[in-house]
Amino acid sequence: MSVLVLVEHQNGEVKKASLEAVYFASLIAKDTSSACIALSLSQINSAEKLGNYGATKVIQASGMEHFDSQHACKLISSVFESQGAHTIILSHSAKGRTLLGRLAVSLDAAIVSGVNSRVEVNEGGWKVTKGVFSGKALAHYRVTHPKKAFTIMGNSVKAEIGEGLAELESFDAAALGGREKLLELRTVDGEIPLPEAELVVSAGRGMKGPENWGIIEEMAKILGAATACSRPVADTGWRPHHEHVGQTGVAIRPNLYFAIGISGAIQHLAGVNNSKVIVVINKDAEAPFFKAADYGICADLFDVVPRLNESLRKFKAQNT
Ligand SMILES: Cc1cc2nc3c(=O)[nH]c(=O)nc-3n(C[C@H](O)[C@H](O)[C@H](O)COP(=O)(O)OP(=O)(O)OC[C@H]3O[C@@H](n4cnc5c(N)ncnc54)[C@H](O)[C@@H]3O)c2cc1C
Repeated sequence: MSVLVLVEHQNGEVKKASLEAVYFASLIAKDTSSACIALSLSQINSAEKLGNYGATKVIQASGMEHFDSQHACKLISSVFESQGAHTIILSHSAKGRTLLGRLAVSLDAAIVSGVNSRVEVNEGGWKVTKGVFSGKALAHYRVTHPKKAFTIMGNSVKAEIGEGLAELESFDAAALGGREKLLELRTVDGEIPLPEAELVVSAGRGMKGPENWGIIEEMAKILGAATACSRPVADTGWRPHHEHVGQTGVAIRPNLYFAIGISGAIQHLAGVNNSKVIVVINKDAEAPFFKAADYGICADLFDVVPRLNESLRKFKAQNT
């Protein structure tokens, strides 16, 4: 018996969300006396080190030139069956969400998307928890089907890193065939990917215009954070669409989220209210975001942010 976990990477480096997914899968493996098998759709660096996160084996596939969800689904289903897996774990990423439905149909598995805490493995059914109603409530599911497919949210478990090394295996996926042809690939380089970021500096319409974003980028640079924005900011072209967070944008769970000149509409909060710590800067004391904030500064952002940047820079200089 085994628990299979899909590992995603960028240029060979395993993504943080996938390291957490491996650890998450290893906890289920331990509770069900199963092996924890990590699967990558292509080659990754230092694959054996996934053993540090609890993987007993790492299977690296070859023969898939680019991500194609149909091809990937066939590949994962085939490994799932050949490894005697009962559960497949995916990150709640764009790829994970794309694959989850396909896999559940292909494997005839029970499905829970966006699991946000450790699964409780019980005889009468596993207790699985996820956020619902834009994170305002928690739903607990009892999953009794023998085959299960879950995506897990980032920051759902704190991975404990050990020293184990995983056994390596390869899998040739070329014979499974893909039906999509890649015509062009455009990637965003040199930035911290938003879904991966531990720290996020986000700004909204209170910035007045794109020409004022220098102070936001400066803060992000000092902190080593990713930048994000509210939807109208992306819609009007002030910032690129991949920075838009919220119900219709990227959902994130960073350790620290700065919301600067953002009102805190429910659709915005839906994508960010699972952040560990939220700091709001807004000049309107009635702005709804203050209700969701751990720390709030009620002031003009054009006054506060440059002074905050100055203090952060000094603090960093004294502490590095
Ligand atoms: C179906 C649907 C889906 C949506 N999905 C999303 C989504 O995914 N993400 C999203 O963000 N929105 C989404 N929206 C839009 C959402 O309802 C809000 O309209 C939007 O979030 C508001 O953006 P904002 O806070 O940047 O702008 P505003 O509402 O205009 O707020 C600007 C804020 O800046 C403050 N401010 C102004 N000047 C200063 C200053 N000098 N210093 C400090 N503070 C200042 C103001 O007090 C105000 O609170 C969606 C809407 C709908 C209907």
